[in-house]
Amino acid sequence: MQICRTVAEVRATLAGYREAGETVGLVTTMGALHEGHLTLMRNAARDHDRVVATIFVNPTQFGQKADLAHYPSDDGRDIDLLSGEKVDMVFMPEVSVIYPEGDETIVETTRMANMLHGLVRPGHFRGVATVVARLFNIVGPDAAYFGEKDYQQLQVIKRMVQDLHMPLKIHGVPTVREADGLAMSSRNVRLSAEDRAAAVCLSKALSAADKLARTGATVMALDGEVRGIINSEPRATLRAIDIVAAETLAPLEGRIAQPTAIMVSADFGGVLLIDQAVVGPA
Ligand code: AMP
Repeated sequence: MQICRTVAEVRATLAGYREAGETVGLVTTMGALHEGHLTLMRNAARDHDRVVATIFVNPTQFGQKADLAHYPSDDGRDIDLLSGEKVDMVFMPEVSVIYPEGDETIVETTRMANMLHGLVRPGHFRGVATVVARLFNIVGPDAAYFGEKDYQQLQVIKRMVQDLHMPLKIHGVPTVREADGLAMSSRNVRLSAEDRAAAVCLSKALSAADKLARTGATVMALDGEVRGIINSEPRATLRAIDIVAAETLAPLEGRIAQPTAIMVSADFGGVLLIDQAVVGPA
């Protein structure tokens, strides 16, 4: 597995792949890798001759400096994990490589970035779209793989790729979970043992809502179900429940009659966790 730190190194390696007629799948990450990330790599390897991973803790998507400072990082462990997968190259740039001095170009999905999670984290999705656009331009993959766990992020990226006519395919990958249902996240290591146990209420609430949606329940009933289960966990502070159209993220009312995304976020001892499920008719 090759490790690249500059744009020139990445481009030279990619030119070699392209000369050999090979296709390239890309997985972008912020490191602190877990089984969820590795599943994205395996999906890319299934579909493509070459897999490129990026590890870059993107400062422009963190609103609060403290959150950025606390973001877990262990490059040695990440490289070991990636070496065990069919990953051909990992791009690990310094901040100045992605954001060269004097840079001023941003990418923003103007509607989707500024709703739902974007309202509580102003600038977050602009930072995500900007870094992902830059990484796409550096690597030039045939396809890129994103987790459904970060559901709004996945829709923002799909919208950006469509709007900017970027020549690649975006694949969403179902959320990988711990045995008890907790969505895997780099943030989970920051949970105390008690909060780790309590955090399972998120996936429990989503499973209950999924069952309810199959009975033709309303948006309001789903909201009540999810709210009730999370609020009955004393260690959870519910931040948001959004029940929206799966593709456009537009608000919904009445009976669930189309693919519907339920996005939840809650705080456990200062660690904000998110989870999602797509329910309703496919
Ligand atoms: P991150 O390093 O948190 O920015 O995540 C990098 C990619 O991995 C994103 O596309 C995430 O949506 C995805 N990802 C994170 N956690 C999971 C998970 N539990 N299952 C599937 N994909 C995930």
